[in-house]
Amino acid sequence: MCQISVSKSEQILALLKSNPNIIITTHSNPDGDAIGSSLGLFHMLKTLGIKTSIVIPNEIPDFLAWLPGSEEIVRFSKQKEAAQKLIGEANVIFALDFNGPGRLEEMKGDFSNSKAIKILIDHHPHPEDIFDWKLSETKASSTAELVYEFATILNAESKINLQAAQSIFTGIMTDTGSFSYGCSNPRTFEIAAKLISKGAKVEEIQQQVYNNFSENRMRLMGHALTNKMKVFPAYRSAFISLTRKELNQFKYKIGDTEGLVNLPLSIKNIIFSALLIENTDYVKVSLRSAGNFEANKICEKYFNGGGHINAAGGKSFVPLSETEEKFIEILKKHQNELKHAR
Ligand code: 5GP
Ligand code: MN
Repeated sequence: MCQISVSKSEQILALLKSNPNIIITTHSNPDGDAIGSSLGLFHMLKTLGIKTSIVIPNEIPDFLAWLPGSEEIVRFSKQKEAAQKLIGEANVIFALDFNGPGRLEEMKGDFSNSKAIKILIDHHPHPEDIFDWKLSETKASSTAELVYEFATILNAESKINLQAAQSIFTGIMTDTGSFSYGCSNPRTFEIAAKLISKGAKVEEIQQQVYNNFSENRMRLMGHALTNKMKVFPAYRSAFISLTRKELNQFKYKIGDTEGLVNLPLSIKNIIFSALLIENTDYVKVSLRSAGNFEANKICEKYFNGGGHINAAGGKSFVPLSETEEKFIEILKKHQNELKHAR
């Protein structure tokens, strides 16, 4: 695995300009950083005269569908043949915002079998050793920030046009909770400022991402907070669990629970929060923490997952009620760390 740096930029540019079939991909159930960084790279490379296709495992949530270029994204779940053809013919694959093929879910096999040169741009810890090139930096706020850095390395900052700027800004903004966590490095704000100079419209992006939900989604939030949130002050923790039935009742659409797991952290002295969502064959676990309590370690150890220190996810393969009990057991087991977390 070769680190992407200025000294390698000629080599990388030569590869990208040699007319290969290039695809950009990102993780399943994409968030703002996944889609924002993918579209940011797509638009930047396009201005450089380099054509790419974006292929993702499943749906684009509505709150990101307004981003320019999103209509061109090929979804493996809906357009399997087209997606498999693109992956099969690819000579270069950019892997954005994930650190191993497991996060591609249904697309994992096609990605792993591909002989294409794989280029990782990501900010998760411990990238798997399957990539040929990597721009991997856990200190970066987001993968979108690293896409900006990638453009800088290629001496192509000027190729970040309005569409790329809007996309990259969306990635940084959503992965930092609107610049409220994971962004204490001045570089994040420098890049944000540059994106605004390039035309990124902060108010428009905020409006599109955060003020565009359905009434049902708002009521689902209300239900979750009023009826489903369980708070454990002694463990400085809380969790919310939602059954399929409840989600159906509120006509759940992908993206509707985005942000919900963060809300319990705004309760005084709560530093660890979980969202447990019933799926057909597993329970999706989302964890968030504040300070030095490592949510990713909990996910790795108990929920077949991983992520960042303060934002992690995974899966539980026992029923929802048992997953709730398991979570409470975990709180008991880790009560000392929870108590002393800073
Ligand atoms: P979310 O809770 O929003 O689904 O995910 C939060 C973070 O946890 C993601 O940015 C990602 O880093 C990580 N994550 C989520 N789901 C998984 C998973 O199934 N496996 C791993 N390794 N990480 C995950
Ligand atoms: Mn990210």
